[in-house]
Amino acid sequence: MAEQKRDYYEVLGVDKNASEDEIKKAYRLLAKKYHPDVNPGDKEAEQKFKEASEAYAVLSDKTKRAQYDQYGHAAFDGTGGFGAGGFDFNSADFSDIFGDIFGDIFGGSRTRGGANNGPMKGANIRTSVRISFKEAVFGCEKTMTLNLKDPCPTCHGTGAKPGTAPKMCPRCGGKGQVVYTQQSFFGTVRNVQSCPQCGGTGKVIEDKCATCGGTGYTTSRKTISVSIPAGIDNGQSVRIREKGEPGINGGPRGDLLVEVIVEDDKEFYRQGYDIYSTVKMSYAVAALGGSVVINTVDGKVIYDVKPGTVTDTRVRLKGKGVPTLQNRNVRGDHYVTLVMETPTKLTKEAKDILRQFDALTGNSLNAAESVSSKSEDEEPQTGSASKGSSKKKKKSWFK
Ligand SMILES: [Zn+2]
Ligand SMILES: [Zn+2]
Repeated sequence: MAEQKRDYYEVLGVDKNASEDEIKKAYRLLAKKYHPDVNPGDKEAEQKFKEASEAYAVLSDKTKRAQYDQYGHAAFDGTGGFGAGGFDFNSADFSDIFGDIFGDIFGGSRTRGGANNGPMKGANIRTSVRISFKEAVFGCEKTMTLNLKDPCPTCHGTGAKPGTAPKMCPRCGGKGQVVYTQQSFFGTVRNVQSCPQCGGTGKVIEDKCATCGGTGYTTSRKTISVSIPAGIDNGQSVRIREKGEPGINGGPRGDLLVEVIVEDDKEFYRQGYDIYSTVKMSYAVAALGGSVVINTVDGKVIYDVKPGTVTDTRVRLKGKGVPTLQNRNVRGDHYVTLVMETPTKLTKEAKDILRQFDALTGNSLNAAESVSSKSEDEEPQTGSASKGSSKKKKKSWFK
């Protein structure tokens, strides 16, 4: 049996010294040409496809190719061979090649090929809903109205006038697909496309149902409530089963996918399950320690600031973040940045006291003076005196 086989190199149409790439390319072309999905019912094509696949399985494998080169078909007789007619598709890297081929032939959607008379799930519908930051954190119920299709009650979805039935499409013979043959640089390429006459259904309707105009569906406005789980984040979707387009031939409805758009919050910012915010603290609180009130999504929290806290200190409030989608009792954290606030509206009295304070704590208000005039004056450092002398100094400095 084995001796009647054609030479593998001859099958693929490549030279004995062909590179791996050349072998792959050659097989790809043959597979495209003879694949059973492109040539339904064509026994000869099927045979050629098998032959090419077998040749490729051997020649694409370094070890097998070496054995074949040495012993010919005899290398694969018996247990290791394909003599029994069985062909092991798993033995070579067909997956990427077939991925390419099906991508080319079927535009990537292999499952929709051909008219399917069996039950098919309806298409999914996508829509979106806006919710607030806190609604996303704790979950919410939303109602939305949208236009939903139902199978036409008059024709029960066939689209044909009662008493009549859809006919087989003459253009594609009920297959729902038409094949165009194209000559290309690589040889003949067969393109399979959805039948333009029946739109891929394989059927045409001669007497249209008056209720639905032949579409098979009626559309009505429906109110649907959506339960949005705690922890959902912007851009995530909630799937509502069987609220999409009606199924085909008694199949289930598609799903409704509701994308959640979370509005920005003035106060809180979210990353993952953690919440971030900033809280102002006065200089006195930063220096002396004291309480600040922090807003969290659970309400106000009083936080004791330690004496000597610097600005931009980050505080973690454990478990005050967003509940996780998996378990609403497991929550992220809330990080608060304590920002020291500079007073901008001070009374004269407050200013005077602040100057006194400054004089007691390093005299920063007069730092420039001490640089410009080391030896000059040992005047008493009262507020008014230093003010006067600083004016004097500036004049002389900028003369
Ligand atoms: Zn109808
Ligand atoms: Zn058709």
